[in-house]
Amino acid sequence: MRTVQLYLQDSYLREVEAEVVEVGEGVILDRTIFYAASGGQPGDTGKMVGSRTYDVKEVTKRDEIVHVSDPLPQVGEKVRLEIDWERRYRHMRMHTAIHVVSSIAMKEFGASITGNQINEEYSRIDFNFKDWNAQISTSLQGRVNQELRRNQDVSVLTMRREEILKVEGALKVDERLLPNLEVLRVVKIGDIDMQPDGGTHVRNTSEVGEIEIYKIENKGKNNKRMYFSIHR
Ligand SMILES: [Zn+2]
Repeated sequence: MRTVQLYLQDSYLREVEAEVVEVGEGVILDRTIFYAASGGQPGDTGKMVGSRTYDVKEVTKRDEIVHVSDPLPQVGEKVRLEIDWERRYRHMRMHTAIHVVSSIAMKEFGASITGNQINEEYSRIDFNFKDWNAQISTSLQGRVNQELRRNQDVSVLTMRREEILKVEGALKVDERLLPNLEVLRVVKIGDIDMQPDGGTHVRNTSEVGEIEIYKIENKGKNNKRMYFSIHR
């Protein structure tokens, strides 16, 4: 990986200067503030401004972070990166919300989480729970909003793998899905949640606003899919 991912330290960077390192099907930069789609959070969109403006339509991550732009810049070109902040900030609020919902659904309602997807307008969580009903949704929503209103700080830590895995409830996915590293980036939301995570989050739960669980779908016998939106 040749690109420094600046958003891992500071999710609030909206603009930064960078240099084009390689151009193929997409663009590899020396540093970036564009979040690459992963962990249920969509990649950022925006633009790179150099000798002209290049629209960034998609950002993907495999071995490298690739910015899919139209048109393509030149290798060595200095560009100013500007992300579509309104969209990204929604993703940040949603991402913090999804951790709070998952953590409370797990710890207080005994649900086990199997997947999630963040969108600008709504997010969804897949989970296992045998007899879910509307009343449980209402209580879960109430508990989540109560915790969000406590203005809890969200912090980014680095922890040794064995240390974070000892924290109860920290592992929400199969351990094999975590990066194969000795030291992991951990996102801690006050006393609500702590888990290894590569996403972008808000600084305080007050920025999330309130969640509204508006739909639960059955996806097989015990599998459910919960949809929620956020508003202030
Ligand atoms: Zn996450």
